[in-house]
Amino acid sequence: MKNLPFGAFRNEESEQVETLSFLNKFFTFAAVFIPPTGVLIAIIQCWGWGVNITCLLLTGLFYFVTGFGITVGYHRLFTHRSFQAKSWLRIALGIAGSMALEGSVFDWTTWHGWHHDYSDTDKDQHSPHRNSKGFRGKLNDFLHAHVGWIFHTLPPNEVLKRKYIPHLISDPLMVFVNKYFPLWALLSLALPTLLGGLLEWSWKGAFLGFLWGGLVRIFLVHHITWSINSVCHIWGRREYGTGDQSTDNWFCRVFGLGEGGHCYHHMWRYSARHGFRWWEFDPSYILIKILEKLGAVSKPLTPKREEILKEIERFRSIKNKQSNRQHR
Ligand SMILES: [Zn+2]
Ligand SMILES: [Zn+2]
Repeated sequence: MKNLPFGAFRNEESEQVETLSFLNKFFTFAAVFIPPTGVLIAIIQCWGWGVNITCLLLTGLFYFVTGFGITVGYHRLFTHRSFQAKSWLRIALGIAGSMALEGSVFDWTTWHGWHHDYSDTDKDQHSPHRNSKGFRGKLNDFLHAHVGWIFHTLPPNEVLKRKYIPHLISDPLMVFVNKYFPLWALLSLALPTLLGGLLEWSWKGAFLGFLWGGLVRIFLVHHITWSINSVCHIWGRREYGTGDQSTDNWFCRVFGLGEGGHCYHHMWRYSARHGFRWWEFDPSYILIKILEKLGAVSKPLTPKREEILKEIERFRSIKNKQSNRQHR
């Protein structure tokens, strides 16, 4: 996908260039640019005064709720069906994921399925490998993969939804969660504001709740999620022959709640766990196992250890052959 004007995108079926609606442009722009403005205000506000504990608590609380909503809910459950979940948990994860303000559950999961099918090809909506030349070109490609693509991607049409998420569009609970996305988006800012006001018992507390638990947290969750698309397709370890440029990256693993095991994930996209060694930190999988113990989750899928070790061996021997050929 080459650069198109702001708000324009290429219709994958008709190959026509179409334009985002005014409302879509407006909300996309607001969702991308208001949180960083909030971060600036937060920095100015706490300069010399420090951050109070309520602000940090609210940022952390909503970071984990909405972060796991994306990783455990939107990604591993709704897109890849790597485990089964009780109805109440599906609703809770759907709402928590929606509160991250990364799009409605149907839009997010459809485009993510598309990314896996066309990863790092011309059709991938957020590949950082678009073969631009020079430092500026490479930086441009990185920024496109990180955030720019959002302005060039329309909500998916019905054909794509039927292809990628038939299990969601036929589930009345998920239709409900998807339909009320604007309400969950509003709650994402209203809840931390309310909690801040109640905990500090002041209007200033409410404002700080909005700023830290709302805008600062949305900024953090946005950029770590987007780093999986940009950073985890450039920097990190490649142990599995996925046929694309996905990597396992420690920074994204820690802050992305386990999602940095991205090369592993591209290899076994059905797996509930993103990694297999004890030190491959994956808090999203830990949460899935806790929910399984509580009876809310069943049948989490993972590949067999022997299969993983065989793949590592296979890919290593291909790389060795390639480097021997280069050195000859
Ligand atoms: Zn990827
Ligand atoms: Zn995925």
